[in-house]
Amino acid sequence: MTASELPAPSPFLVDGLGRRARDLRVSLSQACTLRCRYCMPEQGLPLMPREELLSVAEVSRLVDVAVSQLGIEEVRLTGGEPLVRGDLELIVATIRSRHPGLPIALTTNGIGLARRAEGLAHAGLSRINVSLDTVDAQLFAQVTRRDRLPDVIAGIDAALAAGLTPVKVNAVLLPETLSRAAQLLRWCRDRGLALRFIESMPLDAERTWTPETLVSCQDLLDELGTTMTLTPIGRDDPSAPAALWLVDDPDGPPQPYRLGVIASMTRSFCGTCDRTRITPQGTVRPCLFSDDEIDLVGIVRAGGSDDEIADAWRAVTWRKRAGHAGLDEVVAPQRSMGAIGG
Ligand code: SAM
Ligand code: SF4
Repeated sequence: MTASELPAPSPFLVDGLGRRARDLRVSLSQACTLRCRYCMPEQGLPLMPREELLSVAEVSRLVDVAVSQLGIEEVRLTGGEPLVRGDLELIVATIRSRHPGLPIALTTNGIGLARRAEGLAHAGLSRINVSLDTVDAQLFAQVTRRDRLPDVIAGIDAALAAGLTPVKVNAVLLPETLSRAAQLLRWCRDRGLALRFIESMPLDAERTWTPETLVSCQDLLDELGTTMTLTPIGRDDPSAPAALWLVDDPDGPPQPYRLGVIASMTRSFCGTCDRTRITPQGTVRPCLFSDDEIDLVGIVRAGGSDDEIADAWRAVTWRKRAGHAGLDEVVAPQRSMGAIGG
């Protein structure tokens, strides 16, 4: 390591450009119950042997170090699909018992959530995001390669009933669902759900993403603008990825609806990125678009101390790259979204 590569003497997760990670995403599995075309291959990602997955104790240890030593302020459990883990409730309860005030969020496709939302709330989960690209059953089956829309809707209803609010819906913008964007918006609004559309990124396992397949934030605004009036209102805070609009719908209630759009490709927010990720293999990955990772759980399994874990995490964070090149130079990283943790 040269002098310029040496981490700054900060206790936190700071990179060479001065950004500080406060938001930790832990991917609990790369298995999934759906096969969204923009994420997974038809056959799914290779199954990992159970003993290689992060155990409850390992997740808890890494979160402890992140919160107690590195200044992490929020944890999100994701995947693959986190609900494939039968011990998800135990993971949440274990983190909660050690960090009573920590926001613990879940990103899920909602399959199986109907049975588990109440238990997750009871275990101490704070919030939930459910991914749902369309409420058209036929289109849903086409995009996810599974005919499971009713299960996802039942999961959302159960999350609302369990008080895991605000329940947010994440919808990836796709050419085939764009004309149904207003339908999804009204559906979410009428159920009291927050909705965020997301530009697709070149993180699909099959590498079919091209700039031509991208539906941009502007495409969405143009589409919704044919029937609704949209007024930009900025972001909740400067590091929030979603830009917000107030939507006035002549066919809707008098009060406007707040819509979020995460324009990762056309209005990149890499300059304010505050995320750090743990992959299903237990490596730390500071940037979605860079394959620079270090094996953190390897340190845990070799009997390493909390200080060794924290130092390794700081070192890889210090090297975090500035960001992706937007649409100018699209280079897909080796891992796909399902193998990183979105
Ligand atoms: N299975 C869970 C789910 O779908 O919510 C959690 C993991 S999934 C990888 C997390 C988020 O990443 C989802 O909201 C999904 O829509 C999003 N995602 C997956 N592939 C993407 C891509 N190529 N571009 C943008 N977002 C993507
Ligand atoms: Fe599974 Fe989520 Fe990827 Fe869809 S986006 S295939 S639900 S991991």
